[in-house]
Amino acid sequence: MDITAIKGAYDGFRHTKEIFQTLLDAKIDAEAKEKVSAAMKTLMEAQDSLFNAQSVMFSLQEENHSLKQKIADLEEWRVQMDSYELVEAPGKAVVYQFKGSPEHYACPSCMVAKRISILQNRGVVAGVFDCPHPSCKAEYKVNPYNNAWMS
Ligand SMILES: [Zn+2]
Repeated sequence: MDITAIKGAYDGFRHTKEIFQTLLDAKIDAEAKEKVSAAMKTLMEAQDSLFNAQSVMFSLQEENHSLKQKIADLEEWRVQMDSYELVEAPGKAVVYQFKGSPEHYACPSCMVAKRISILQNRGVVAGVFDCPHPSCKAEYKVNPYNNAWMS
C-alpha cells in the first residue's frame, strides 16, 4: 500500500460519509436512520483503522530506510577493511597493513571502532608509531629498535 492508495481510501470514506449524511438529512423513517447511523459508525471505525495502518506504514518505511542505510555503511566499511590485513610489524606490534600504495599501517583499536587511523612514525630509535586519533592516541612498536646512529 502506498500514499496514493491511502489517499484514495480517505477520499472514498469522505464520499461515503457525505452520502450517509445526505440520507440522514432526508426524510427517512427512524429505523432507516438507525441503520444509516450504524453504518456511519462502522465507517468511522474503518477510517481510524486506516489511520493506524498509515502510521504503522510510515514507521516501517522509516525503519526500512534506516536499515538500508546501515547496510550501505557496512558494505562501504567492508570494502575499506578489505584493503588492509592484520600483520605483525617488524617491531612486533600487531597492526593493520595497507595492501596498496603508499605503504602504511593502521591502528587496530580504531579499526574496532570502525575508523581508519593511519599510524604516524614518531621518528625515534625505539621505532614507535602513534595513532593520531584524539580519542585513541595508542602507540605501537612498529619498527625494531634501531641504534645504528650510535655506532
Ligand atoms: Zn587508534
